[in-house]
Amino acid sequence: MQSGDCHAIARNDTTGTMMKNLTKIKCVVALLALAGTQAMAQSKALVNTSQSKYAKLGSLDMGNVAWTKGFWADRFQVCRDTMIPNLWKVYTDPNVSHAFKNFEIAAGLDTGSHSGPPFHDGDFYKLFEAVASMYTVTKDPKLDALMDKTIAVIAKAQRADGYIHTPTIIAQHNDPKNAKAFADRLNFETYNLGHLMTAGCVHYRATGKKTLLNVAIKATDYLYNFYQKASPELARNAICPSHYMGVVEMYRTTRDPKYLELSKNLIDIRGLMKDGTDDNQDRIPFRQQTKVMGHAVRANYLFAGAADVYAETGDQSLKDVLDLMWNDVVTRKMYVTGGCGALYDGVSPDGTSYQPTDVQKVHQAYGRDYQLPNFTSHNETCANIGNVLWNWRMLQTTGKAQYADVMELALYNSVLSGISLNGKNFLYTNPMSYSDDLPFNQRWSKDRVPYIKLSNCCPPNVVRTIAEVSDYAYSVSDKGLYFNLYGGNALNTKLKDGSALKLNEVTEYPWDGKVSITLQQAPKSTYSMFLRIPGWCKNATLLVNGKAVETALTSGEYAEVNRQWKAGDKIELNLPMPVQLLESNPLVEETRNQVAVKRGPVVYCLESADLPKGQKVFNVAIPVKNDLKPELIKIENSPIMSLTGKADLLGEASWKNTLYREIGTNNSKVNVRLIPYYAWGNRGHVDMATWLPVDR
Ligand SMILES: [Zn+2]
Repeated sequence: MQSGDCHAIARNDTTGTMMKNLTKIKCVVALLALAGTQAMAQSKALVNTSQSKYAKLGSLDMGNVAWTKGFWADRFQVCRDTMIPNLWKVYTDPNVSHAFKNFEIAAGLDTGSHSGPPFHDGDFYKLFEAVASMYTVTKDPKLDALMDKTIAVIAKAQRADGYIHTPTIIAQHNDPKNAKAFADRLNFETYNLGHLMTAGCVHYRATGKKTLLNVAIKATDYLYNFYQKASPELARNAICPSHYMGVVEMYRTTRDPKYLELSKNLIDIRGLMKDGTDDNQDRIPFRQQTKVMGHAVRANYLFAGAADVYAETGDQSLKDVLDLMWNDVVTRKMYVTGGCGALYDGVSPDGTSYQPTDVQKVHQAYGRDYQLPNFTSHNETCANIGNVLWNWRMLQTTGKAQYADVMELALYNSVLSGISLNGKNFLYTNPMSYSDDLPFNQRWSKDRVPYIKLSNCCPPNVVRTIAEVSDYAYSVSDKGLYFNLYGGNALNTKLKDGSALKLNEVTEYPWDGKVSITLQQAPKSTYSMFLRIPGWCKNATLLVNGKAVETALTSGEYAEVNRQWKAGDKIELNLPMPVQLLESNPLVEETRNQVAVKRGPVVYCLESADLPKGQKVFNVAIPVKNDLKPELIKIENSPIMSLTGKADLLGEASWKNTLYREIGTNNSKVNVRLIPYYAWGNRGHVDMATWLPVDR
């Protein structure tokens, strides 16, 4: 449609005000769409909030930050050399995973049936996103060629109307009458589409190529048209809603306003159907929710997506709910590791507010307030990643460091625990304790495995997250640069005013709190550096060129240093990280009279591998006055800061066939070594405990 036609139609329309308004709206949409396609968004940030009216912070372009030496450089190297190549092999070997084979069959390049879970497409897109993100740093032409080859198959699998979901497309090939799009709400179609949208945006920003983005545009248009006609019952296909984030990112990339309209409608339509569930967070409309409930991955993805919609629209009713949900999670429902989702299976914690006969089953879900068991903690890796995605968006919209604190906590603990140190094996659930003595089996292996049969959603999710940590390290505003996550890196970027900013960060964080930053190229005018003082840190100090700076260094806030910077300026931040013993609110029954050991952002655990033979981890108590000291060791070739010292060994008599007994007094001392929780299970099959009894 030409823009001139719009005015003509609006002027000549005589069929009533409503029609006139409708036409005007359509014209504005068309004009904006035209402008949008002419000027695709320029920012190459992973999550592009550079033009989001209600986001306080933007991001640097992907590839602007490269890990140099230290913790994240080590993880990134394993990601580049092992995690991505290894997982790519898994996903393209039909004898292990049918994920890519499904695309080949849907594209007509092979014959056969769909195999694997319905969300396999989405998981393949996540792995593809990891490759695209990796490419922004390495610029490895082999990765580029691999992506080109893969996109050709994905594009061929897409239907002419834009629909793409290999289970349905293959079923249609084999029996055209028998398969309908969006017929089964448990079919994960929107989950798959959402990850396609994100992967399309990331690939476009990484390579400048629109090949996958065009597939994503066709798919998003399909979804837009579908929702124009769908009944609420059909429209409730929102299992694991990655598509809220995906659709908003498509808007940010194309500036096509109908995608923003779609994202708003997707939130509004929730809770309107008759048979919504607490498990799926759609029993009641989003804006009426007051407590977090249900499947933790779905909840966190929903909140991340709603935060994206807020960043674009400024709809305060969304922000109000997000604030309620965040406080509910952080003050009552989150594990000390940032893990989310206490329950394997249960009933909705909201059961008391309505008829007991209506109490609904939930699975892999948030529990009731303060219900945080240890052996049976579910904590799906994807839920913990969802916690990162959500808090990242809350940080971008508000600029508040409390969200970076949660991101960091989840990243170092309950996200990294989802993958082995060698990068080849994965956990679906992340228990706080494990014992072979428990006389029942829980679903999903507690030893990491190369491929999680039927639920391999977590491996590509954790791999893309590790590939993308550098994109979360910094944020920018018109005023300055925000240091969100610390780690040895080189930053090289251009600010909005065109001036270059280059700096080098050297640090052993999270093993040591000293962070040394040297400017190599400074902005032309006065500029602020916002250095995050983590919530766990007391007594931080800050020097610029060797002199103390007059600025508040408050735990859980950013410290602002505003000045005219020049090349060679040196910032020295020190974040002391003594060993800390944490206790929980006494309403958390499962951890009463116990402590979790933490140093800096890292939570520790005790493994049976570090006790004298025959001793049980559950017999070890940590004295309040302890001598635990950091000691650098290596596990699987990765440097790991352990904590060594003396602990109390409680009465050693066996508990076999015993439920209760009189308390013993024959305590003795034992040498212990605690290791970071994320590194548990990397030295063979072990018993493990995160919360340990405290000896006061
Ligand atoms: Zn998962």
